[in-house]
Amino acid sequence: MAGEMSMIGSVILALLLAGYLGQQYLPPPKPKVIGLDLGTTFCSVGVFHPGSGEVEVVADAEGRKSIPSAVTFTAAAVLAGHEALELGDINPHNTVYDAKRFIGKKFEAGVLEEESSRYPFKVINNNGSAEFVISTNHTFTVSPEFIGSRLLLKMKKMAERQLGVLIQKAVISVPAEFDERQRNYTVRAANLAGLEILRVINEPTAAAMAYGLHKVDVFNVLVVDLGGGTLDVSLLNKQGGMFLTRAMAGNNKLGGQDFSQRLLQYTTQLVLKEFGVPPTLKQDIHRLRQAVEAAKLNLTLHPSAMIRVPLNLHGSSQSPEGTAPVLFQTQVTRQLFEELNEDLFLKVLAPVKTVLVEGHLEKEDVDEIVLVGGSTRIPRIRRLISEFFGKDPNTSVDPDLAVVTGVAIQAGIMGGSWPLQVSAIEIPNRHLRKTNFS
Ligand code: ADP
Ligand code: MG
Repeated sequence: MAGEMSMIGSVILALLLAGYLGQQYLPPPKPKVIGLDLGTTFCSVGVFHPGSGEVEVVADAEGRKSIPSAVTFTAAAVLAGHEALELGDINPHNTVYDAKRFIGKKFEAGVLEEESSRYPFKVINNNGSAEFVISTNHTFTVSPEFIGSRLLLKMKKMAERQLGVLIQKAVISVPAEFDERQRNYTVRAANLAGLEILRVINEPTAAAMAYGLHKVDVFNVLVVDLGGGTLDVSLLNKQGGMFLTRAMAGNNKLGGQDFSQRLLQYTTQLVLKEFGVPPTLKQDIHRLRQAVEAAKLNLTLHPSAMIRVPLNLHGSSQSPEGTAPVLFQTQVTRQLFEELNEDLFLKVLAPVKTVLVEGHLEKEDVDEIVLVGGSTRIPRIRRLISEFFGKDPNTSVDPDLAVVTGVAIQAGIMGGSWPLQVSAIEIPNRHLRKTNFS
């Protein structure tokens, strides 16, 4: 009897072992869990491919790996991502962006009214929570989590199209500073998009995972995330396999949009000087803004860039209706871009210093520096950080895709994908406060 039992036991064990080892020889299963980075200005979705162990950041039909975090409402449709951004300058009152700044957040009286004045769309206060007022052929309000859900739905569909399977499960990242409520509302946004959230992880932890820091022996990791409109600096402490956030600081009014804005102001002045009128038509402003954004990205790679935009300038006193469009063109240099933004760039170091002080560390104690966010591609920013620490930061993973890459790895872990990985475990930081410099 006992012998029989042990034989059955051995057979079961052998089968389990064969199945486990055999996995690598079978055609790899499709990923079932996606990783989502719902950013303030850009969003991405990634998957971990069982078998190869590679992370794929999903591209849309045009090959773009990030979608703008904007949602636009027309009488006929609700559009998210690039289509929404395209309409942003033309349909400004019904195009909502930056919704992440509002999700799950409780506001004191008066604050939302002030926030509202910064945006072309209308933000109202519903019992301390933000809502956006939309007027198409009728007027209604939508919540920040609804905006989030449209972006997440878009990314769910991108992943489904790419993988050819239906996706129902995901892992999502949030800023380390998000409280329980903000996390819950982010999960709610995913639920509205038909996704079950298996794990919520902190963005800096995800970025550290993208560099494999959950698998190696490091102690102090400093993550600098400079995105479209926010700067987040986190000091992570790794103990065993666990990430602990030791300190957080940042500036929630500093990012790529501000750098673009400086260049836009500069070019607007040039238009005024050359043609006697500033661009006021929505179409003109839209085109100029796009050209300036493209020039900014070019200046990261090249010492100079051309801005060339046809402008109508029509409807103004100088060029009355019916006048042919003019061609505005100018060459801008990286040096000029750096001069226009020097004061803003220097602001990046303040929160870095703060987290070191709060974490009781000298800069020499930082083992790894991880750069995250599209704006950390800017050469001047990289230089400032390397010079401050006297060593080079980790930049091998695309900074704007570092978070989604880490979230996708976590998604692979949650999906139990081969090759099995060590999970990053986060110790919740309920009592930590973020120092804000804005
Ligand atoms: P989020 O803040 O939503 O997390 P990202 O990390 O994707 O956004 O950062 C977006 C910002 O990064 C945008 O302002 C964009 O202009 C900027 N950016 C992206 N690529 C570059 C680049 N090559 N050079 C300079 N800025 C860049
Ligand atoms: Mg980001």
